[in-house]
Amino acid sequence: MAAESSVAVVLKTIEFSETSLIVTLFTRDFGQVTAIAKGARRPKSSFEGSLDLLAVCRVVLIRKASDALDLLTEAKLNRRFRGADKSLTRLHGGYYLAEMLRLLTETHDPQPMLYDLTLDALSQIDGTGNAALALLGFDAIALRLLGHTPTTRTCADCGVATQLDRSVPFSPAAGGVVCGSCRISQPSVFIVRPKTLQCLERLLDNQTRLPLATASANKIDANYRDVRVLLNRYIEVILGKTPRMQSFLPARMEPSE
Ligand SMILES: [Zn+2]
Repeated sequence: MAAESSVAVVLKTIEFSETSLIVTLFTRDFGQVTAIAKGARRPKSSFEGSLDLLAVCRVVLIRKASDALDLLTEAKLNRRFRGADKSLTRLHGGYYLAEMLRLLTETHDPQPMLYDLTLDALSQIDGTGNAALALLGFDAIALRLLGHTPTTRTCADCGVATQLDRSVPFSPAAGGVVCGSCRISQPSVFIVRPKTLQCLERLLDNQTRLPLATASANKIDANYRDVRVLLNRYIEVILGKTPRMQSFLPARMEPSE
């Protein structure tokens, strides 16, 4: 098999044998890939610490037959994740990002726009950006890029137009807001305020990069908690589980933390 090259973010590493690592990568060109890095645990390996969690590196892979692990033959560090040097919030934010990418993306399904969004989010989280806002923006845009946009103005079940000037029922299982008739047949419905939905619309707006525009950030600030809860509940249904790091997400938008 021919060797293939891509840029990648390290999502997970597991020790394998005395000297090797099994590495889960989110690559720009091939989507999620799990590969074995032989000799990566040796003191002077050619991987030179490039396989730390959330490191961005250029990798060379040899793809194997369907059920075998791919082989990682090279990894050259481009960028190290520095969240741990900044704050616990930023470190946890990075862990959350890695977990979400593992759960949301598929093996060998390229998502280059999501990859670029991930690099934006990483530089916000371990730089001086607002980590809470970056994670909120990442979640909303990632859901949209992967085809999971929730409806905000039409019933997710029957398609009828809903009012945006009053609180409306929201059903994660149906895929967004629902009308008065359809809410009865939905398993878990909660009520969402117009301001929360407007913030969600801003987050889902056509932009695919971070940071979010200052105007959007200012609007979201006062409604952060409600939007975060709404997205958390929606994500749980999309994934069929609660991400382990979800409870570590920032409770407030703290610009200086
Ligand atoms: Zn309906």
